[in-house]
Amino acid sequence: MFRERLDRVRARMADAGVDLLLLSVGADLPWLTGYEAMPLERLTMLVVPRDATATLVVARLEAPRVEERPDVFSLRPWEETEDPVSIVASLVGTGARRVAVGDQTWARFVVDLQHALPDAQWSRATPITGPLRMVKDAAEVDALRAAAHAVDGIATAMRDVRFEGRTEAELSRELVDRMLAAGHERANFAIVATAANAASPHHEASSRVVERGDVVLCDFGGTMRGYCSDITRMFAVGEPDPEVRETYGVLVDAQERAFRAATVGTPCEQVDKVARDAIADAGLGDRFIHRTGHGIGLDAHEDPYLVTGNASPIEAGNAFSIEPGIYLPGRFGLRLEDIVVATAAGPERLNDAPRDLAVVE
Ligand code: ZN
Ligand code: ZN
Ligand code: ZN
Repeated sequence: MFRERLDRVRARMADAGVDLLLLSVGADLPWLTGYEAMPLERLTMLVVPRDATATLVVARLEAPRVEERPDVFSLRPWEETEDPVSIVASLVGTGARRVAVGDQTWARFVVDLQHALPDAQWSRATPITGPLRMVKDAAEVDALRAAAHAVDGIATAMRDVRFEGRTEAELSRELVDRMLAAGHERANFAIVATAANAASPHHEASSRVVERGDVVLCDFGGTMRGYCSDITRMFAVGEPDPEVRETYGVLVDAQERAFRAATVGTPCEQVDKVARDAIADAGLGDRFIHRTGHGIGLDAHEDPYLVTGNASPIEAGNAFSIEPGIYLPGRFGLRLEDIVVATAAGPERLNDAPRDLAVVE
C-alpha cells in the first residue's frame, strides 16, 4: 500500500515538474510511510527524490518508533551532535532543484533549508499529495466509518445526560472522556457552546453554567485508528423557544439538501451554494458565516473544501463534512454536521445519530 502510494506521488511529481518532496510534521508523512513525526525541535524529514530511493531522516532516539519499510524508504538516523538540515541538504543535492515541502513543516527548518539550498525553487507539497489523499480507499472509508460510529454513540447517549446546572467545561470534559472510552486514541476537540456562546462557531468551553431554556451546541471529534471523527448535534434544555425550532428546521433542511447535492461530479462549491441558498431563502443568509464543509481523513480538516471558489468536482472516495450553521449574535447558534462519503451510488452519510433537536434535562 505505501509503495503504491509512493508510486502515485512520484507520478504527480513528474507531472508537476517537482524534483523532490520533503515531508515533516503533518499527515502526508504517515500516509506515505506509516510513521507520524513528533512535532519536535528535532527535525524529522522524509526526502523523496522523483527517481531515487526515499530517505527518512530522523533523530536517533526517535528511530525505534519507526517501522522500517525498505521497499518504501531507507532510514538515516542522526546523532544529537549532527546537523539534520545539512543531512537533508546533502540528500537533496545542489543545483536548481524544484522542491515541494510539506505544508506543516516548521518555519525554523524551512528557513534553514532555504539557506542551505540557495538555488532550489520552493513550492508546497499539498498540490502533490492533497488530490491523492482526498480519494479514500476502502480501508480508509472503513476507518472513517468506525470513528463516525463511535461518536454517533456518544451523540445519542448525550440525549439522556443532564445538562442543566453543569458548566460547558464539564460537559466538554465528558465528551472527551467518552471519545477515549469509545476507542478514540485522541480527542481533538470538544466544543460545548451554550445560548449566546454558540453564536461563535469555535467557542471554547467556558465556566458558564447551563440553564433551563438554553440551546447547546456540541461539536466534537477525535482520532481513531489514525482517522478522524467530527460531528455536531444540538440540544435544548427544556422545550426551546418556537423561533429556535423554526430556525433549526431551516438548518436541517439546508443540511439535507446539501447532502443530496453531494454527488460525484458536482463541483464542491455547488454543495456549499445549495446549503447557502436554503438558509438565504429563509432570510438568514448573512447568519451562515463559514463554508459548508471540509474534507476529513488522517487530518480533521483537509481537501476537499466545500466552499465558493472550489470548482473541483466531487470524486468517488471523497470524504467531507456537511455542516451548515446559523448564528444569531447575542442570542443562539445552531450547526448540524455529518461526515459524508461520495460513492458512485450517491452520497453516503457515515454518521447516523438522530438529527432532531434533542430536548434534554
Ligand atoms: Zn469547525
Ligand atoms: Zn465539527
Ligand atoms: Zn467539521
